[in-house]
Amino acid sequence: MTKFATESAVTPELLAKYEPVIGLEVHAQLLTRTKIFCGCSTRFGDAPNSNVCPVCLGLPGTLPVLNKRAVEMGIRAALALNCTVRERSRFARKNYFYPDLPKGYQISQYELPLATGGWLEIEHGGEIKRIGITRLHLEEDAGKSLHDGFPHSDEKTYVDYNRCGTPLSEIVSEPDMRSPDEAYAYLTTLRQILLYTGVSDCNMEEGSLRCDANVSVRLRGAKEFGTKVEVKNLNSFRYLAKALQFEIERHIGILESGGRLVQETRLWNQPEGRTVSMRSKEKAHDYRYFPEPDLLPVHVSSAWREEMRVSLPELPGAKRARFVSVFAITPYDAEVLSDTQALASYFESVVKAGVPGKAAANWMQTELLRRLNDSGKEIAASPVSPEALADLIKLVEAGKITAAVGKKVFVTMFETGRSAADIVAAEGLGASVSEDAIEQAAREIIAKNPDNVAKFKAGSEGVFKFFVGQVMKATRGQANPQAVNDILRKLLS
Ligand SMILES: [Zn+2]
Repeated sequence: MTKFATESAVTPELLAKYEPVIGLEVHAQLLTRTKIFCGCSTRFGDAPNSNVCPVCLGLPGTLPVLNKRAVEMGIRAALALNCTVRERSRFARKNYFYPDLPKGYQISQYELPLATGGWLEIEHGGEIKRIGITRLHLEEDAGKSLHDGFPHSDEKTYVDYNRCGTPLSEIVSEPDMRSPDEAYAYLTTLRQILLYTGVSDCNMEEGSLRCDANVSVRLRGAKEFGTKVEVKNLNSFRYLAKALQFEIERHIGILESGGRLVQETRLWNQPEGRTVSMRSKEKAHDYRYFPEPDLLPVHVSSAWREEMRVSLPELPGAKRARFVSVFAITPYDAEVLSDTQALASYFESVVKAGVPGKAAANWMQTELLRRLNDSGKEIAASPVSPEALADLIKLVEAGKITAAVGKKVFVTMFETGRSAADIVAAEGLGASVSEDAIEQAAREIIAKNPDNVAKFKAGSEGVFKFFVGQVMKATRGQANPQAVNDILRKLLS
């Protein structure tokens, strides 16, 4: 059913009988230097409790001041997700007690969120599907309980308040997803949009992107939703897909054995590969939301909203479509090359330096990305610049070196940072076989292969590649491939 399923406790027939319904709530940390209501740094990894002040510690008599940059980031994300940014939104207090929440309440948005009614498009199994976004609101993060690694960790829990007041946007989807794969595609697409717009670094290890899922199942064709369960803290893409698959099968198992589902919150237990109950609906918090009296309502003027809109970069979907139409590359190539903005702009630079789109796409995907991957480097740290790669590809395209030699030259370029022309000249790699020598080799091969000549003459174009390959082999890969092609065509026609 899904590419993540390892083994299923439920038969394929039963899985087919039910339809999963999935919605996601994603928390993304906004990329601001300082916290949402005070001037403390949001830097990750600093010594515990070093980035705190009376405001984010919730000391009496302090007042929050809204960070304009956090609102801007929220507006950018909302616009990129096709949401309507509300002219007026308001912060509210969400009241609950927990050791990592020194104020005793979290400042969030409740009945008047920053933005509502958006969507994004996912691609799954070659189909484009639109997933609705219910709302996007701003809120502050809580601190972090530390359960181990300290002198008295066996008897005490420590608390780090550095994360208190870090700005978050919560993005709530409609229950529009119908499989773990679609949920995975949604989270991947959302992450890419947040990265493109510079709204969040989406670093899952550092907790900058967190995901909760609502999941239920219903008989295929049924209109009513089944009883939903919330699965919390899915802090990796893989866990998300595995937890959803587990829950779907658990729900089907219960329904098939005549049982009833209870609405509850569950946690994914990765080592055990299962979800466990955290609290039932009866024990759900009543947060007693009320408007935050210490903050003014948020007012987003149309001028401010439009200023944000024009500052948005080209988004991944638009970029992919443009790459396909302008550079004549395949949708698959366009998807790979628009994975990150850095990769996309590298590709555009190679093309701009005079290389056809398809050749640039091929060289980047086969040679460059593989080398980068092997050496654990990001595209930004590539030892071969787009212009240097373009120079190499142009040598190959012009037939001055063969593709095989070009690949070897690329390895040296990657290792030494030298230019293609330098390496070709210094190592005498230029296509050095004379046309006479190519013609002689070609004549010998044609003479030795009358069967294939007959096939070619009978219209089998495929066999032409055989002749090219044989001539290249006879000239030890040193011949100009274009010349080999031309000479063979002449001799075989
Ligand atoms: Zn502070």
